[in-house]
Parts: sequence; C-alpha cells; structure tokens
Amino acid sequence: MKICRFNHDRIGVVQGNAVHDITDLFDRTMSWPAEPGDAIIAQLGAVLESGIDIDVRPSLDLSTVVLESPVARPHKIMGAPVNYHAHIEEANADPEINAGKTFTTLEAYGLFLKANSSLIGPNEPFRVAFADRRTDHEIELVIVIGKTARHVPREKALDYVAGYTAGLDMTVRGKETPCYRKSPDGYCVLGPWLVTPDEIGDPDDLALSLKVNGDTKQEARTSLLILGVARLIEYASALYTLHPGDVIMTGTPAGVGPVEPGDVIDASVENIGSLRISILPALLDGKAA
Ligand code: MN
Repeated sequence: MKICRFNHDRIGVVQGNAVHDITDLFDRTMSWPAEPGDAIIAQLGAVLESGIDIDVRPSLDLSTVVLESPVARPHKIMGAPVNYHAHIEEANADPEINAGKTFTTLEAYGLFLKANSSLIGPNEPFRVAFADRRTDHEIELVIVIGKTARHVPREKALDYVAGYTAGLDMTVRGKETPCYRKSPDGYCVLGPWLVTPDEIGDPDDLALSLKVNGDTKQEARTSLLILGVARLIEYASALYTLHPGDVIMTGTPAGVGPVEPGDVIDASVENIGSLRISILPALLDGKAA
C-alpha cells in the first residue's frame, strides 16, 4: 500500500488518483512523554493487519491534496555517506565534494545524522542555506523503520521495515561535519508517500533517477549499493536503537551536483513515485533575498 500524510496531518491510502482518508483508524491522543518514535508509523503495522475497507473511507482526488513528509516525527534521520562505488570515485576526484578527505569505505566513515528539523515534504519550500556556497542534490532510496530494532542481524532486518520512500539528502559542500552541512532546514526532503514492502519488490534492485531542469543528472539502481538495505539496518541497529519512524537514507549514486535558486529537481524511485521541488534563494538576515 501507499501511505501518505496530507492536508495538515491526515493519513491516507493512495490508490490510483484517489486518496482514501484513514486518519481515524489511528490513536492520536498521545501522553507526555511520548514513546520514542513516530506514533503513526508505530501503529501502522497493526492498522494494516486489521484490514482497511477502502470503500467506506472518505476519498479525495490526489491532485487536490497537499502531500507532506510521510513520516511526521522520526526519532532520528540516519544517512549513509559513501555507499555507491561510482559516487566514492566522483567524490574523491572533486575537491569541492571531498573537502580534503579521501573516501574509502562506508565502515571507515560511519553513518551521519541529519537534524530532524531538516525534514520537509514534497510541497514545502526548499531554500538553499547559503547564498554563496554550493548545495548539492543527492537522490536516495529511504528506509522507514516500523518497529523497535537493536542488534538486528541482516537475515531478519527486513522484518523491521515499515516501508520505503524517496528522499533528497540535500548537502552543503565544505569542511564542516556532515551533521552540520546536511542539516539546514529543508535539507531532508521525503515523499511522495511510504510504500509498504509488499509493493516494493526487491529494495536492493530499484531504479533511481534525478533531473535538474529536465536534464538527467543521476541515474542508477540500488543493486549498486555497497551496503544493501538489510546490511544497513544491521549496521545502524548495532549502534543505535531504531524506533518506529526512524529514517535511514541509503546513500546517493554518482551524478551529484550543485543546484541554484530557480532550478527544479525531479526525483523518482521505481515502485515508489516521484517528487518535484523548486530551489528558492537563501534567506538574508531571516528575510527572503
Ligand atoms: Mn547522501
């Protein structure tokens, strides 16, 4: 199923051109302190198991709704920095990307965290963080964790997946830590919806593509991932307890490059869908330039 969040925190099932509103199947009365993780994603497995009668749900035309990030409140957003060989090669060849570092393996570098406040959906404005610095696009397959996971072996890792979505791991190039450069407001774009594993096929064999102003910049398959989906969950859960709604950005293939205000990015992942964002200028002193 395709599960979307839309129109100020409604939850829907997308089928064809319709969005069926299933918001009232979820308990949204949370106590403080809330359990770690996203409360809707935590309930999603049980809601899907109980069966959803789409026909009795209010239905809206997909073209009329405003889609939001399919996860509202991830407990953390993890990223894999160098997980495609061709991207490692392009990064090592471009001083603006490597900022003096030499990338070898993902395990030598570890994962990074993006600030949760960087998260936006496909219809929110994206602004570059700095008028005078390079911001790059990075399309990625994104894993959304469905239940608490700690020390999960790769053989069982896919049991912990709620679904997959498409993501843009937007990145300022430079010498600061990735946690800083990848965390400005808006630099994690997720959407258009969450696709449950039964509809995804093999997550390690999906086509990714990204265009800027109609020109293809990134085109690859997740079969080229160095650490595939199950291995990434094993690797992440060996260090962090993963909670429902946690996001793992699996890494970007080759073809990263800068975007400028006025550019339009079209990103798509096979069996998931597409998202489009327009690049807006940086804010100067808190105001639009
Ligand atoms: Mn990335």
